[in-house]
Amino acid sequence: MPASFCISAENLGAVALPGFCPRCFWIQMHAEGLPYQIFPGIFSSIDSYGKRLVHAWFDRHQSAPPWLAGLGDIKGYRPPPHFSKFSTLDRETGIVLRGTPDGILVRRDDSHVIVDYKTAKFTARQDELFPMYDAQLNAYAFIGEQCGFSPVSGLALVYTEPVTDNAAAAKDGNLTEAGFVMDFSAHVLPVDLAPQRISKLLAKVREIYHRKRPPESRQGCKDCALLKNLIAVVSK
Ligand code: SF4
Repeated sequence: MPASFCISAENLGAVALPGFCPRCFWIQMHAEGLPYQIFPGIFSSIDSYGKRLVHAWFDRHQSAPPWLAGLGDIKGYRPPPHFSKFSTLDRETGIVLRGTPDGILVRRDDSHVIVDYKTAKFTARQDELFPMYDAQLNAYAFIGEQCGFSPVSGLALVYTEPVTDNAAAAKDGNLTEAGFVMDFSAHVLPVDLAPQRISKLLAKVREIYHRKRPPESRQGCKDCALLKNLIAVVSK
């Protein structure tokens, strides 16, 4: 089947959220982006720094940093490929699924653990975005199995949480000539490996995408009500 369109693992993850809005998704897919999508880049800079710290540690010590011990016997890492090389065509739906994982670690048995770094407060599965991260990581596993990273034997979120309590603020060493130092504490949250769920999400995406008109607004969404008011005002 020829490819009909591409979706990123991240956007596919959004489909798994309990508050997922098919209308928003339809608009986003057909408009190829939405306005007012400005997010502070600092979080991705910290995630990327965490990834480089881990890789540099492996290069220097040929072993995993101590706080990744929960992931088992990790012997190394493979640089995550660009999304153009980390993609797969799902023959059932004709959708190309792609993405770039934050980290791909290699276990002693040569299987792979795919990780995603999150700069956020660690709340074991209480994070309301957890279903999205879970689906995103499983989408990476789905792709990885087709793209030279088989077998994938584990998935995990690595939360790096800023340490900003009073004790940290009172430490002399945290205030320097140039500014200040902030510690981050790392927590590993294993995610269940279930890439077979991805086919169902892709089928849902295809069904929504191919609708001729956008689906109805999500019930009770205040933003859509505001938009309707705005349209009513400008069309008077
Ligand atoms: S209902 Fe809400 S989430 Fe859905 S399209 Fe409207 S504004 Fe977006």
